[in-house]
Amino acid sequence: MSYLKKLYWSNRESSIEKKMAGNEGMENLITLVNRLQDVATRSGVAMDMDLPQIAVVGGQSAGKSSVLENFVGRDFLPRGSGIVTRRPLVLQLVNNGSRKEEYAEFLHCPNEKFTDFDEVRREIEEETDRVIGGKGISNIPINLRVFSPKVLNLTLVDLPGLTKVAIGNQPLDIEARIRNMILEFISKESCLILAVTPANTDLANSDALKLAKEVDPKGTRTIGVITKLDLMDEGTNARDILENRLLPLRRGYVGVVNRSQKAINDNKEIVAAIDEEKQFFQCHGDYKHMAEKLGTPYLQKILNQQLSSHIRETLPALRKKLLDQMKAFEKDMKREDMNLDESAVKTKTMILLMNQLEAVFINAIGCYESDNIGKSLNNGSKIHYLMHEHFPQEIEKIKLSDDDLCQQIKLAILNIRGVRSGMFTPDMAFEAVAKEQIAHLKEPAMNCISQVVSELQELLDDCTQLMDKYPKLREMVDEKLMLHVRECEEKCQEQLSALLEYELSYINTKHIDFVGLKGVKSQLAYYQKGDKEREDNMNDDDNQKVFDITNILIEDIKNNGIIDREVEIFEILVNSYMTIVTKTVQDLVPKTVMCLIIKKIKNFIKLELLSQLLAEEDIFTLMELCKDEKNKRDDLVRMYHATKDALKIVREVSSSISKNGV
Ligand code: GDP
Ligand code: MG
Repeated sequence: MSYLKKLYWSNRESSIEKKMAGNEGMENLITLVNRLQDVATRSGVAMDMDLPQIAVVGGQSAGKSSVLENFVGRDFLPRGSGIVTRRPLVLQLVNNGSRKEEYAEFLHCPNEKFTDFDEVRREIEEETDRVIGGKGISNIPINLRVFSPKVLNLTLVDLPGLTKVAIGNQPLDIEARIRNMILEFISKESCLILAVTPANTDLANSDALKLAKEVDPKGTRTIGVITKLDLMDEGTNARDILENRLLPLRRGYVGVVNRSQKAINDNKEIVAAIDEEKQFFQCHGDYKHMAEKLGTPYLQKILNQQLSSHIRETLPALRKKLLDQMKAFEKDMKREDMNLDESAVKTKTMILLMNQLEAVFINAIGCYESDNIGKSLNNGSKIHYLMHEHFPQEIEKIKLSDDDLCQQIKLAILNIRGVRSGMFTPDMAFEAVAKEQIAHLKEPAMNCISQVVSELQELLDDCTQLMDKYPKLREMVDEKLMLHVRECEEKCQEQLSALLEYELSYINTKHIDFVGLKGVKSQLAYYQKGDKEREDNMNDDDNQKVFDITNILIEDIKNNGIIDREVEIFEILVNSYMTIVTKTVQDLVPKTVMCLIIKKIKNFIKLELLSQLLAEEDIFTLMELCKDEKNKRDDLVRMYHATKDALKIVREVSSSISKNGV
């Protein structure tokens, strides 16, 4: 009997069966799922409707692809050694009735009809590589729809075979990844599991059955397929399992014989192979009593029936899911202020964003707003570190070593004296050295400001991330803030320069903390005495009076010449004076920064930013959404409508089923 005749038979048979079951709606159910799939596809977004389908699982070379090809009656799946199926293939078989046309379509090439099935194979291979070059795997499915008058409506998913060892440049975790991918599909209650096991291996150890058992322990949605019955050792058979006694499944097992590798190499037609399969069962002593419940056409038929009834069973759950989804979308749409086109909403959102910007900035700076105290480790604390730890360290770094300072003092003394010689060197030498040191403070002070400013700039960049969805707004806000920060920085620099200018203009030797000559005298005395002597004279106040600067100097002239002694005195004076100036600068830098930069920025955000923005651009331009966000919202609307459509279809079908009394 030819394949076509047989199909006519099996179709007639199934339609008779359907009539007997009084179920005209059944055939519609698989079409329903396809229609739902269409809805999801047309929406143009990845929507997981969790539609009922049959996933094909099994070890490598178990015969999965062969079974699928037999369903279609065409060679169209990639073959070869190793992991050939590396992405899930969602295969929808659509019976296009009396039309003779046989063709395939891929979801990823809309409007392209494939009539050459070799090209279908090539496209599967190429599309696999397009997403995952090399040897990896991916769970992004390839969707293929085959239209033919010879197929029964079915939706099947071909999955990568379970593998044990990674070969070549395959990732080492390939086994675990394939397992997880398969589990991801088959753990859904809506999925029927077609567990393919070759008969010439130990059935109890079948990878497919073991995996199916993990997600379907009661075996209610697993269908067993035993392949390679022709390859069993002579004297053995698979009756125990095929008669559902060995490892019982509620839906039972179907045995098949696919083409051997040799038959494939010889280009044997599938139609002929199916004929042979039939012969095999009818003539085999162990199987002929159950031949009508074996073989590819029978498998196809019961899959069609079981998928249909499975869809009917899952319909209420699907309906509930769609309803929930629709509600969730509605909520999202509300939250996203989908009617953002109105200018009032835009203005409101913009003001809100400005307030948020201010709040985020204040929060990040912390420390000076009383209600933010206790917020730790923010940008404020980094700035604090820059001003109070880093800046003093930098000042310490530029400080002259004792030797260098002595050298400078000596030079100053000699220069001031010129040709003259005298016992005392005028104050001018001291001033010259002190001023030189003060001038050195300028660089670290300016550096400190620019470091604080770049920290603030970074912080502001972070802050404006909250307007990410509105690129134009963010760009303008960034620009305005940058300009303003730069202005503040300049003012702050000016002020600090002025401060150092004051310090340079007048060396205040009457400063309350300045050591003065009197202090020098006592310090020198302190140094001159040995430790022991100092201890001895701890309580001897009279002893101090002996050390008079004049005496010391006279003593020195006698011994070493005047310079060394003078240098020592100057060093103490300069150090003392510099301590005062450094303290002042260290104290004023943070105050200036706070007053002229941070507070100014805060006020700018609070009081000026918004009006400056609106003065330059209209609200529609400012509040233009970014592409991603626009797409996201469009997607949301599409998904919402898709779900609504899907729900309508489900309702229609449900009511037609109940009208037909099923
Ligand atoms: P998959 O890796 O599970 O997709 O397995 P394939 O369908 O590619 O089959 C692997 C190999 O086993 C191929 O060479 C097939 O020709 C061969 N094969 C599959 N099923 C049968 C069968 O029932 N009998 C014989 N003799 N060979 C089979
Ligand atoms: Mg395969």
